[in-house]
Amino acid sequence: MSYFIDVILPIPLERLFTYSVSAEEAQILQAGMRVAVPFGKSKIYTALVHNVHTTAPTVYEAKEIHQILEDEPLVNTFQIKHWEWLAEYYMCTIGEVFRSAVPSAFLLESETLILKNENTDIKDADLKDDEFLVFEALEHQPILKVHEVAAIVERKNILPIINRLLTKEVILLKEEIYAQYKPKLVSYVALGQAYTTEEALEKLLQSLTRAPKQSQVVLSLFQLQASSKKPIKVSDLVERSGSSNTIIKSLIKKGILKDYKIQTDRVSFSSDTEKSTLKELNEFQSTALESIKASFIQEKVTLLKGVTSSGKTEVYVKLIKECIEEGRQALYLLPEIALTTQLIGRLQNYFGEQVSVYHSKYSIHERVEVWNNVLAQKSKAQVVIGARSSLFLPFSNLGLVIIDEEHESSFKQFDPAPRYHARDAAIVLGKLHKANILLGSATPSIESYYNAIQGKYGYAEINKRFGNVLMPEIELVDIKEESRKRKMKGHFSERLLEKITETLDLGEQVILFQNRRGYAPIMECSTCGHSPQCPNCDVSLTYHQHRKQLRCHYCSYYIPLQESCQACGSAKLDTKGFGTEQVEKELQELFPETKVGRMDLDTTRGKYGYEKIITAFEQQEIDILVGTQMLTKGLDFRNVSLVGIMNADSLLNFPDYRAHERTFQLLTQVAGRAGRTKKRGEVLIQTYNPYHQILKQVSVHDYEGMYKEQLYERRQFKYPPLNRILKITFKHKDYNKLNEAAEWFGKGLRNVFGENVLGPEYPPVARIRNQYIKHITVKIHKEAHLGKTKNSIKRIEKSFNAIAHFRSVRVIYNVDHI
Ligand code: ADP
Ligand code: ZN
Ligand code: ZN
Repeated sequence: MSYFIDVILPIPLERLFTYSVSAEEAQILQAGMRVAVPFGKSKIYTALVHNVHTTAPTVYEAKEIHQILEDEPLVNTFQIKHWEWLAEYYMCTIGEVFRSAVPSAFLLESETLILKNENTDIKDADLKDDEFLVFEALEHQPILKVHEVAAIVERKNILPIINRLLTKEVILLKEEIYAQYKPKLVSYVALGQAYTTEEALEKLLQSLTRAPKQSQVVLSLFQLQASSKKPIKVSDLVERSGSSNTIIKSLIKKGILKDYKIQTDRVSFSSDTEKSTLKELNEFQSTALESIKASFIQEKVTLLKGVTSSGKTEVYVKLIKECIEEGRQALYLLPEIALTTQLIGRLQNYFGEQVSVYHSKYSIHERVEVWNNVLAQKSKAQVVIGARSSLFLPFSNLGLVIIDEEHESSFKQFDPAPRYHARDAAIVLGKLHKANILLGSATPSIESYYNAIQGKYGYAEINKRFGNVLMPEIELVDIKEESRKRKMKGHFSERLLEKITETLDLGEQVILFQNRRGYAPIMECSTCGHSPQCPNCDVSLTYHQHRKQLRCHYCSYYIPLQESCQACGSAKLDTKGFGTEQVEKELQELFPETKVGRMDLDTTRGKYGYEKIITAFEQQEIDILVGTQMLTKGLDFRNVSLVGIMNADSLLNFPDYRAHERTFQLLTQVAGRAGRTKKRGEVLIQTYNPYHQILKQVSVHDYEGMYKEQLYERRQFKYPPLNRILKITFKHKDYNKLNEAAEWFGKGLRNVFGENVLGPEYPPVARIRNQYIKHITVKIHKEAHLGKTKNSIKRIEKSFNAIAHFRSVRVIYNVDHI
């Protein structure tokens, strides 16, 4: 009998692919194991076994697999089911889900290696200069990688050279698979075998009396061993004895010490610190916890709406504790920017080493370790706190899923596929495991609140801040009026300046929010109105004062700051709009004595960039912190009593049906950073439009009012939660072809969905990286059969792809686009 496996390849193929295996291999292979397989002419991919069977494919001859990569599954059946759901629901392929679900270290690469062709009879003289450099390098080193060649010829684009060398038969190419992941080994020391008795040790110390440093090391090791049963790290011994690695090495050489290595997890936390006991909940928290549990019993997804600083986290902690006591795994999902050291530290205080963190800022190696720990169901990873990708971890016994800040739009993956919403995907995952599922927010999304009102979700709320601290007092400041009276200083109203001064005088801190990074969004010529544009995208370049550059926020294009207008030559250049950098600069002029910090994408690059600023602010090394929406999330600062919103209008005017909901959420969250301890905090919102309904609702904490009004509009215009939104994006570098293609597709859709099709239309930025973009939005009634709807769309796509002229146009689906 012949044996076959169907595998998932990490590429956008519609179907599984079949390979042949031997009877022995078929014995070993199970779903979820990785195999290396040949694909196409010369590629080798890491694929995942989906199932083992005996039916040969009919349309192609199955190739043999290359090798089996491990003897245990890397991915479990829960995951494969979940991936299948994701691919189906978000209209992508399971290969795309595979690719983004596992750490890239598990997707072995076939990397091109360059070898010297031993059979060549080429002479140096036949080679160009750059070719000769590569030729010469291969004399010394038998194999070169592509990036090494690039370094040798000091050029990025080296494919032409490689091609020339290939035609001249100087080199050969070799495809080789290699593993990227290398576990980290830590060195430990112990006393040498001969010295483990007390007697021998005594003798040793005597013999070392003339070598005080060495005897100090031995003594320290002895003390360390006495105080802890754990293995002793070389680094700890160095520290304890005040000696050096060299001395320890010499002792190892003499056999007095022996060293050994253990593989450790990079992401380890000190296990020595005492765990804190859980806090006693107050009556509001307890009531909420009881309602949550009651609704869990009914197996309902539950929404916890608790005002900022009401102590939601402590409620989560209770649930996590119960979950892990039952021996099940808990997943605590947060938006990337809310995953702060503050919060991680809080959880570690309670659960110590049982907490693992999974986060895009962690290295591949760190992610592999968390993956393996979850896979092995180690207690180390019994509680995983992570950003959206952590829902792809190999949980096998999930008992609790918490989705905190569930309203956050950054839970939606935008690019590449799968374009999933982590909240919704986590709910589906939780259900597969029959886990309890809790959504939390101070400002729930309209969808989730709607589900709660409809009774589809369970519901609990906490309306009081912890410690009965009052909700911050919110004041709207009319900057139109102040501008008219010429009372503005830069972008600061008199009222805001007054409040800042007052707060600083009391030794308290201030947070200022501006929703744009950079100095000023654009430069504009006051003579002719021209503003410098990105050549690759249809946007004006953004002025970054610090680097004296004009930069594109969509691609990486930039130019140095212009002295005069490129269109008319006038030197009268002006800035329009403003960003965090300019707020910072103005503050430094207005309050020269004050320490101002800035938190945005530009200042928080690097793994610890963000933490550094937060810590500095916590330790009050910074008095005023200016930032973008990064500072709205989950931060708990003790000494902040004033929050200023520089300009609320740019949020409200965003061209999107969610702009109002988002503005309410964002402003409420930023406001929530004020006065989290005893004193009531104050919030000033500067706006040209103080009578705007949303701003009024924010100022009196009227979530209900906002919800009702928004729901009414959503119903009117057929938006979520009453309808689903499917956005189809078309991309092509040829403007005319894109237009024709999108029109053709739009017509097809209109035949089926009639007036529920919007567009095709250009987005506000209609060209990015030289690709023109058009969107079509399809509104799908909640009750409509989603599968059938998608099938009709796929059918249209099939006929579309049959038209040769359109084939190069990219079509991208975004289900539940937000
Ligand atoms: P939220 O997540 O709702 O914004 P937090 O959980 O951060 O609120 O709680 C706000 C503050 O109140 C935190 O500093 C927290 O330590 C404190 N707190 C919350 N609940 C309790 C409790 N039951 N006992 C003591 N302190 C609490
Ligand atoms: Zn000009
Ligand atoms: Zn650009």
